[in-house]
This record gives sequence, structure tokens and C-alpha cells, in this order.
Amino acid sequence: MASSRFRSTATRVPASWPTTQRDSEDSGNSHRAVERSLHPDARDPDAEDEAPRWPIRRRLGPLSGCCLAAALFAASADAAPPFSGTIFLDPDIVTAADPSSLVEVTPAGLGERTLFDRRADAFVTLEVFLFDATFDDGLAAEVQVNPEFGAQTAAEVALEYAAAAGRIPTALRTDVDALWIHRGVQPFGGGNRSLLIHTGQGELYVQDGILEETLIHEATHTSLDAAHAAAPGWLAAQAADPEFISEYAEQFPGREDLAESLLPWLAVRHRPERISEELRTTIEQTIPHRLAYLDGLQLDLHPIVGDPQVGAGPCVRDEHTACLLAERFEVTAELRDFSNPPDGPGALFPGTIQRYGDAGTGSDVSSETDQSVSFYAFEDGNVEVFVKVLDGCSFAGAEAFWVFAAGATNAETTIEVRDTWSDELYRIESPRGVDFFAPPDTQAFRTCDAPPP
Ligand SMILES: [Zn+2]
Repeated sequence: MASSRFRSTATRVPASWPTTQRDSEDSGNSHRAVERSLHPDARDPDAEDEAPRWPIRRRLGPLSGCCLAAALFAASADAAPPFSGTIFLDPDIVTAADPSSLVEVTPAGLGERTLFDRRADAFVTLEVFLFDATFDDGLAAEVQVNPEFGAQTAAEVALEYAAAAGRIPTALRTDVDALWIHRGVQPFGGGNRSLLIHTGQGELYVQDGILEETLIHEATHTSLDAAHAAAPGWLAAQAADPEFISEYAEQFPGREDLAESLLPWLAVRHRPERISEELRTTIEQTIPHRLAYLDGLQLDLHPIVGDPQVGAGPCVRDEHTACLLAERFEVTAELRDFSNPPDGPGALFPGTIQRYGDAGTGSDVSSETDQSVSFYAFEDGNVEVFVKVLDGCSFAGAEAFWVFAAGATNAETTIEVRDTWSDELYRIESPRGVDFFAPPDTQAFRTCDAPPP
């Protein structure tokens, strides 16, 4: 897998058009129905039922353990999927602060590509902005951005969505050759060896905190459906489980059940601390055989499940690395300058810990204290960002290590704080051209109980 590299070309697409186009249309209509329940203001002209529905419906209660016959009767007569759609389960399963495997996005000029556009409800051939996105697991994807974006905005959305795609697991990106990016408030799509993104809808997903959750759903279509959605083991798990996880999965068992089940599986198996006990129990009781099937796939879940070797170990202080709170938290920063000409990607600069006093005289002192540090990037003395980590473990209601960051910059900025005890990574990303702002986070590291390494 590490050696896989993909490039999308328009010439390969036509053989699969007839079925893939139908899939995209079906998927779009279904997702639109689900989204209307989350955004009641979004009116679907085709919809007959305009009543807003809360997307998460709770089960009425657990089945009693009295006997199999009663349980089967209850399942067939009363039980309903516990959720309408699973991308809304919990916005914290994967967040924008989680690490991304994206390495870089490199402009690759203009080129003619054929991509699906839900506004036209058709494949369209356009001269698009091209970018090569590379990920640290060896995968790569071509980002194809509709020319309706200007060059500058195209570069920004290419970076934003490539970074988000980098936050979903390797196993789900394996068959993603291309990201298709258009404007518009239209449902995302998967399959076609691509991910379809409409940025108007993407902004709504970001507001709701479910951009990564949605990409996980769509990328499951792209990378796992072909091998598993109709596999005998999966069909047997469907038959053995008490219920579908969502109404959407129940409505399209062949097409949506795997994509609807993957995120709940990821949540209960790898993010149990981020979801409620009730949610975890509901998922485990509803689709236990599907969960076991997914366990058996041994999926590569980098960067959600970190490689234990990467970044592990104690904090080692150097000119770019601060070690706060008795050396427990490793803090680094990285900034990208504004390029000349402005359409270029700019150059990366590691943040350097600001020192005060006369360099080289032995009298200068670091800005690093036990709780905070300042970094410059482009010029000594020109501080860009300030980071502090506080021990809030004794504060009732906010028992956590807190991360606060301030910046005097509108350059693209990435700050990483790593808890060397739990090896959790907390990342702050601020895009180019936007005044730096990171909200104070008093839940940054819920690792007060982590044992010392
Ligand atoms: Zn789907």
C-alpha cells in the first residue's frame, strides 16, 4: 500500500459512466433527504414531506432477554434503525484538530478532466485547476478544482479539502485518485475512484463539525464497497444483526449499509472516549456482527490510529521544539510565507523559539517558560505565535490540559502540541490570508489520568 500512487485521467472514466452516474444520482437524492432534516431551511423542491425531523432518533428501549422468539418478534414488529443517518452521530469522532496525513499540495497547472457536478447532475468536462496532493502514507490524489474558483481560491480550497481528506484513514483513501471540487450546496459523493465535494455544502458540514465524518462515509464507497458491500461475510453479518444502524442504510442495504456502518464502527472501536456511553451501547447492540466483520478487515487506520513509532517518545527540546509542563507537552509551529507570485504555494518555515537579549553573548534567554512559548518563523524578533498549555486537571468540569494559542499573523500556520504521556496530538491550523484565531480549548487533552510513560 505504501508504494501505491494514483493519477486520474479523463480517458479512464468512460467505461464506468453508466453505472457510476446512476449511483451518484441515487446517493445524492438520499443524502439530500437526510440533510433536510439537519438543515430545515434547505428546501428540496422534489420533497413532499417538509416536516423537519431531528436526525438522531433514540431506540425505545433494550430488548428484554426473555426468549429468542419474543426477541425476533420485537425485531420484526417494533424495532427501527436507531438513527436516520450516521454522519450526524457525533461531530467529535474526527475533528479538524486531529492530525492529517497530508504532506503537501503542489500546483500542477490547468488540465482537461471529466468530473461529476451535481448541479448539472452529470459528468462535465472542464479545464480545471490541478493540484497534486501527497500523503505521508505514500498515497497521492489529484485535486481537480472547477475553474469557477479563481486561481487563489482554487489553491485554498484544494489545500483545505486535501487536509480534511488526510484526516480520514489510509484504508479509505486507497482508491481515491481524485478530489473533485465545485461550488454549490449539493451533497458530497463517493465512488468513481474519487470524492465529490461541493464547497457550499462543505461549509455547512464544517459548521456542524461533520466534514471528516462525511468524507469517511463517501470514501468508504470509493475504497471498500467494491470488495465488501456484497461480500458473503458482510451479507451474513447484515442478516445476523438485529437492525440496520440507520434508516438510510435500511433503505439502500446494498449501496449504503457499509458506508453507514463504517463510521459507527470507527467510533466504538477507536474513539470510544469521544462519544457517549449511550451512543456506544446503541451501536454495539444494533450491529454487533457488522462490527465484528469490520474488525476482521484489519484496516489501516492511520492517522486516526497512530503508528506507535511516529512521534512517540519524550520531548526533546531544540530551537524549534518547546517542552512544557515539566517536559510533558511538546510544542512546535510551522508557517508558510506568502509567495511571489501570489498564486504559488509559498515556502514552509519551521517556527523558531524566540529568544530575547543579545544572541551569541550567552546573556540571551528563551521565551519558553514551563507553561508558554513564543515562535517566530520568517525573521528573528518578528514573533508570529504564542502558545500556552495549562494543567486544568483539578478544575471541576474542565478536568483536562488546556491549550490556548494567539497569533499576530495571517500567514498559513500550523501548531502542534503532543502529549508525550498519551501520545495524543492536538493540532491548530489557520489558513493563509485569515487573521489567526484559535478558540481557547479547555478540553484539548482529556488525558489527566494517562499513566507516565
Ligand atoms: Zn452514501
